[in-house]
Amino acid sequence: MPPPAARSHSALRLRALRSALRLRALRFAVVERMGEAVRWRALGLLFVAGGLLALGTLLLPRAASADPLAVVVVALVASVCGLVQLAVADRLPPGDLSLSLVLAFGTGLVSAGTWATGDPASALALMYVWVGFDAFFFLSRRAAVAHIALVAVAYAVVLVVLPAGDGGSAARWLMTLGTVAVTGTLADILHERSARLIEQLGEVARKDSLTGLLNRRGFEELMELELARATRTEVPVSLLVGDIDHFKAINDTQGHRAGDRVLQEFADLVRATTRAVDGAARIGGEEFALILPATDQHGAFLFAERLRRRVRAEMSREDRTFSISIGVATGLQHGTTADALLHSADQALYLAKHLGRDRSVSYSAEVRSALRQPGGEPAPVEQLTAVLVLAETLDLRDTGTAAHSECVGRYARAIAQELGLEPEHVERIRLAGLLHDIGKIGVSDPVLTKAGPLDAAEWAEVRKHPEFGARILASANLSDLSAWVLAHHERPDGLGYPAGYGGADIQLEARILAVADSYEAMTSDRVYRRGMSPAAAIGELRRHAGTQFDPRVVEAFVVTLERGAGAPGSALALR
Ligand code: GH3
Ligand code: MG
Ligand code: MG
Repeated sequence: MPPPAARSHSALRLRALRSALRLRALRFAVVERMGEAVRWRALGLLFVAGGLLALGTLLLPRAASADPLAVVVVALVASVCGLVQLAVADRLPPGDLSLSLVLAFGTGLVSAGTWATGDPASALALMYVWVGFDAFFFLSRRAAVAHIALVAVAYAVVLVVLPAGDGGSAARWLMTLGTVAVTGTLADILHERSARLIEQLGEVARKDSLTGLLNRRGFEELMELELARATRTEVPVSLLVGDIDHFKAINDTQGHRAGDRVLQEFADLVRATTRAVDGAARIGGEEFALILPATDQHGAFLFAERLRRRVRAEMSREDRTFSISIGVATGLQHGTTADALLHSADQALYLAKHLGRDRSVSYSAEVRSALRQPGGEPAPVEQLTAVLVLAETLDLRDTGTAAHSECVGRYARAIAQELGLEPEHVERIRLAGLLHDIGKIGVSDPVLTKAGPLDAAEWAEVRKHPEFGARILASANLSDLSAWVLAHHERPDGLGYPAGYGGADIQLEARILAVADSYEAMTSDRVYRRGMSPAAAIGELRRHAGTQFDPRVVEAFVVTLERGAGAPGSALALR
């Protein structure tokens, strides 16, 4: 038995595959549906033409045994029936059965008309050929054969019922039937060829001729389809955007043709690495996109890294290292339209390039804020790398810490802004909020996720997290953040941990973190209790101002909360 994770993964894959097949069937149905009206119109036209021609024959010399009134009746019925089909073709029922029934009715009319002329050699019998053509062009092969059988029987009955003519009835029957069958076969070949041509044209319009991958148009169509499915099934879909590093150098040193061959080789490798349900596209000169259905952000990141390493290992030569940079985004979290998701993945890719290329970056709030630095340029490379890795680590732990941390980051930023700190300083404090619990990766899962109150030993373990966090941040060269995180559980009355410092010894930034952290903890739901209302949590902050919290920080926070409460979409209303 596979482990539950593997099972659910393969179940996801299966669901993705099934849904891809369903979509394909749907698409086919759409094409079929469009063809419906055409089929009815063609048949309607045959009915009208048949009726008019039958009327026309009455103006010419005819057999003495003819019944002109019967011919007129049959011709009028055919014409009216045809006109109705032409008029309401769009609303007639889809499917082969109704069309088949009307076509069989047409066979009946041809037979009745032939009989009404009273002549075994009647020219009206030629119209059986139309039945064969229509059946083979518009219906399934089986249905078409059944129609030919019907024609054979109907014409035989007519010939038997009519008075014997020149004795050539059997030969006429055989010739007519043979002509119906041959014309039908030609129609069948014509139908198959045009269907294949349409399919090929559709493929060409969506394919990149150099690599055989989807082109931008094919990619956009598939992305819309997969996003619609993800919305319906609530199963995530991920998008990878990859760009070859320093590709211009390959063109410059080895020529454009060699560059083209490298692009083809790369596309082959992408094809060999992806699953059947994934969609691979070339969306720009040396830019590629991969759509991974039923894949969440972590899965997509791991896949991106696997692809990146494989490309590097298999495509590097002695004289050149070949590498790609990849941006990863996941729907619907990072975008609900193809454009929005592509934009998010592009931003992550931009950051991957900025961080030195040959790497994958997952889109996150961190990527967004890194690109929205006060100066316009992303932060220094080493720091950005550290922050992205740490944020990713928090997220991977997935004990609810990531959502809590983002929220604390937003609160801390709001307080710092309210206190009038410089924009760069505010951003550092937000980062500290985001990473304040990073030390919890040193606390065991059972303790971290325990539903009830902790015992003494467990408390001792939890109380170590500021020190763990400070050590991690210091090793990541984020020493300012390290000091603030170390003190974020200290209290002005000296009863905090780990050092038990009091009052002015605690840095302002740590005091901000303490208020943001406590408010978030009080107002969010836990397994064992519901969160407090904002009003109750503010009451609690004010009650402990001066002992547990810095009163100035508490008041600044209350001001931002009250301002934010009425503003939908504001940092605080977003929680
Ligand atoms: P970076 O790492 O920043 O992505 O560097 P780069 O050189 O790959 O990026 P840049 O955008 O400067 O250059 C892209 C190059 O890709 C320029 C162009 O000559 C080349 N290119 C685009 N389309 C094709 C193509 O179809 N065939 C070939 N051989 N080269 C192409
Ligand atoms: Mg490039
Ligand atoms: Mg490029």
